Amino acid sequence: MRIEHHALPSPSTGVQRTLRVLHFGTATSGRKVYIQASLHADEIPAMLVAQHLREQLQQLDAAGLIAGEIVLVPMANPIGLAQDIQGTLFGRFDLATGVNFNRLYKHLTPPLLARLQGKLGADAAANVATIRREGLAVLADWEAQTETEALKKLLQTLATDADIVLDLHCDNEAVLHLYTGTPLAEPVMQLATRMGAEAVLLAKVSGDDPFDESLSRHWWELAEQLPGHPIPNACVSVTVELRGEHQVEDGLARQDAAALVAWLQDQGHVAGPAPAMPAARCEATPLEGVEPLAAPHAGLIVFSKAPGDAVQAGELVAEIVDPLSDQRSELRATVSGVLFARVARRYASRGMRVAKIAGAKAFRSGKLLSM
Ligand SMILES: [Zn+2]
Repeated sequence: MRIEHHALPSPSTGVQRTLRVLHFGTATSGRKVYIQASLHADEIPAMLVAQHLREQLQQLDAAGLIAGEIVLVPMANPIGLAQDIQGTLFGRFDLATGVNFNRLYKHLTPPLLARLQGKLGADAAANVATIRREGLAVLADWEAQTETEALKKLLQTLATDADIVLDLHCDNEAVLHLYTGTPLAEPVMQLATRMGAEAVLLAKVSGDDPFDESLSRHWWELAEQLPGHPIPNACVSVTVELRGEHQVEDGLARQDAAALVAWLQDQGHVAGPAPAMPAARCEATPLEGVEPLAAPHAGLIVFSKAPGDAVQAGELVAEIVDPLSDQRSELRATVSGVLFARVARRYASRGMRVAKIAGAKAFRSGKLLSM
């Protein structure tokens, strides 16, 4: 294992933060997996899974079983981790700008279309190498202004030439679920089965350039726009939501790390026979089919459904109780599906999304992710 420390630019006099990056295996094969934990810094389960992954990958590396290179960033957001506000860790948004740490990565398709003129040919593998090289050049030209932008540039640069990218997060209260690009459904369903995921949400564009999409989206977009040249989907990029924010347990984390390693065996990045494939617990559904249930007015949230529950259209999911007027309003699902996540707090402001149901039919459009 090789350890790199990347210094972030100092945001303020006397402050200097560092990102630690672990490299397993060997970079010379050209095969690469990139895994990062807790880009939203207050999503702690991911950092515990990374601890177990580090141990398992060290053993595999020592035994010579890592086929290419595996890069692990066990703590991806030192800026957010320091945003402790009077007892509450605030790791989702950059305090300085209000921007979500998982939004506004570089959409590579437009600059790549300009840079690739005359550089692609009939050989798919050569095209992949060219697109990766030019993608890294686009990122090298990114003039990051703030410390947070520099962090985003660094993370995207570390991942841009990887075959597989796993961005480990969690939700407030949730069952394990995944987000990925629609063209990547097949390999990602295998990962979902390995991890026991109960929802897999697919979108070609989910809006505002989240990290996972910034690594995968340009591959199918370039293939559509440059049909004369073979361009495969060369990066399987996935956001893994490791249940709820309080599920920080060694047993779960060890199990998740083992499932990730088993999938890397399925994908040929780790040698040796993978354990038997468990039964799938869900099918993939469109992100446009997710129903976010919003509170019609402010009030206490009284849930009647929990994460993992199957919900029928018309069924009661929660009631919102206004303590000023005593009004009690029912929140009913309008689609059938799995309730895969709900908020951890029990007081809603008006319009707050309190639960999400994975429906099978697409019905939404526009920006599909919450802020
Ligand atoms: Zn997150």
